[in-house]
Amino acid sequence: MLEKNDTAEALYDVLRRNGFVRCDIAACNCGSWHARHGWPERFAEFKDALQEAGGELTGVTALGALQALIAERDKLREAAEYAAHQLEKARIWGGMDWHYNPLHPMNYRPALERLRDAVRA
Ligand SMILES: [Zn+2]
Repeated sequence: MLEKNDTAEALYDVLRRNGFVRCDIAACNCGSWHARHGWPERFAEFKDALQEAGGELTGVTALGALQALIAERDKLREAAEYAAHQLEKARIWGGMDWHYNPLHPMNYRPALERLRDAVRA
């Protein structure tokens, strides 16, 4: 009898190590085991997508890698919006059509520098 319990305990341990949990869902009440809703597989899927998008997972958590990608996106977006704004300022309606003034270095240089900084980072 003792041997049978040891085997059952060893098998429960296999289930636990593979992400299964005892059913504690009152509505289910099956008394059996459930996989954790596929969370490990979903998380692996998420990490793969993160790496494909350029996320660096070495030495950081997946959340840290995602936050770094979001910060990079925000910096690129901010630089692109600033450059677009500077270009828009050079466009003037002349009554019949648009005229495009040359960009003054005061507007041109900071836009270019922001774009280059954002792309290099
Ligand atoms: Zn259940």
